[in-house]
Amino acid sequence: MHLEILTVGDELLLGLTIDTNGPWLSRELAADGVQVARRASVGDQATQIADAVRDALDRTGALITTGGLGPTADDLTAPTIAALFGRELVFDSTQWERIRKLWRERGRPGEPPNANRQQVMIPAGARVLSNRHGTAPGIFLEDERGRWVAMLPGVPREMRGIFNDELRPLVRARLGGVTSVVRTRTVRTTSVAESQLPSILGDLARGFDGMSLAYLPGQEGVDLRLTIAGVAPDEADARLAAGAALLGDRVGAYVYAEGATDLAEVVLAACRARGLRLAVAESCTGGLLGARVTAIPGSSDVFMGGIIAYDNAVKEGQLGVAAATLAAHGAVSEAVAREMAAGVRARLGTQVGVGITGVAGPGGGTPDKPVGLVWIAVDVDGEVRTFGGRLIGDRAEVRYRATQGALELIRRVLSQR
Ligand code: ATP
Ligand code: MG
Repeated sequence: MHLEILTVGDELLLGLTIDTNGPWLSRELAADGVQVARRASVGDQATQIADAVRDALDRTGALITTGGLGPTADDLTAPTIAALFGRELVFDSTQWERIRKLWRERGRPGEPPNANRQQVMIPAGARVLSNRHGTAPGIFLEDERGRWVAMLPGVPREMRGIFNDELRPLVRARLGGVTSVVRTRTVRTTSVAESQLPSILGDLARGFDGMSLAYLPGQEGVDLRLTIAGVAPDEADARLAAGAALLGDRVGAYVYAEGATDLAEVVLAACRARGLRLAVAESCTGGLLGARVTAIPGSSDVFMGGIIAYDNAVKEGQLGVAAATLAAHGAVSEAVAREMAAGVRARLGTQVGVGITGVAGPGGGTPDKPVGLVWIAVDVDGEVRTFGGRLIGDRAEVRYRATQGALELIRRVLSQR
C-alpha cells in the first residue's frame, strides 16, 4: 500500500517550524508495512492546499495531512478539502459539547469562543477521528472510488495521539495481509567512543542477518540502530530481537538499555532493586541531574533530593566541604567532588551520594582547568568512585554530558554490588 503525506503551514515553508510530523508518520507507517510514496509541504492558502490534495488523489488516492485544523482564519484544510470532495460542512454537536467540556475543565470562564465552532464543522459523510489531547478532531474523508484523505491537526502531540488511537487501525484494516515492513530496534551504549565500536563489534560491525546497523552518536552516548526491511512483521521483530541480543552480548557493559529508555530510569531501577536511596550535590549542572531523575515516573521511592551547591559557601555550609580542600585543590577537583558526594549522602541520609563540579563555560577556563573539565564522584556506603575528564560541546552539552557521566558512574558502581 502506498500513500502520501502533506504537511500544511506557512511556518513550515519559512523554516520557522521544522516539520517533525512528516518524518514521524513515515516511520510509523513503514513499521506497519505502508510505503510513503511522497511527502510535501504547502502554505496555508486554500489554492495551495487544493492543488496539492488534488494531485495526491490523482497519483496515489491516499493522503494524510497535518495542520490547518485550528480555530483561526488561516486554518483552511477542512473546508478546502471538503470543497474538493463536493461535501457540505455540517456542525457536529457531539464534538462541540466535547470542546465546551474541555473549556470548563481548563478553568476558562464562560463559553468557548465562536472561533472554536470552525473546528467542529465536519464534511458530510466524513468520519470523525476523535482527539483525546486537544480541541480539533481529525477527519477521515473518502469518495465513491475509495480515494481518501485523513486530516490531522498540526500540534505534534495531538497528531500522534489521533494517529495511534484512530487512524492507524483504519489504515491497518485497509492493508490486508502485510508481507513487508521496515522496522528498527535501538541498543543504547554510553562511555564508549563511536570509533571503538567497530572493532568491539567485529564481524557484526557492518550489519548482519539482513539487518543494517547505524551508529548514532549523541550527548547520551552512541545508539546502535538495527534496521530490517522487506520481511513480514513477525519475522522482522524476531530477527531484530535476536540481533539486539547479539549486540548486547558483544558490546557488554557499555550497553545500558534498549529503545528510548533514559539512563536515569536504568539507574533508578538499579537503586530500587538494591534498596538504595539517592541524593545529589550539583554545582555546574545546577539541578539538571535532579531534574532528569525526577522526570522518571515513580522516582520518589529512590530519590531523596539534592543540594545545588553553586557557590563555594554552599559547598562548605550545606555539604560540609572543607575550606582547606577548596583552598588546596579548587572547586573543580576530585577532592571537592568526593566531599560533595559524601556530604550530601550524610546530610540527606542516603546510601548513594553524587557530587558534580566542573567548568561549563564558555568563560572561566584556565590552562589548568579548561572549559569542559568535570569531576564527578559517586559514594555508595563509603565506597567512592570518581570520574574526571574534559567533556566536549557548548555549555548546555557539557552540563548534560556531566549528568550522563554521573548516572553512568552510579550504574557501574551498582552493577558490581
Ligand atoms: P491548532 O489547532 O493548534 O491551530 P492546527 O491543526 O491548525 O492546530 P497549525 O496551526 O498548523 O495546526 O500548527 C499548530 C502548532 O503545531 C504550531 O505550533 C506548529 O508549529 C506546530 N506544527 C504544525 N505543523 C507541524 C509539523 N509538520 N511538524 C511539527 N510541528 C508542527
Ligand atoms: Mg492553526
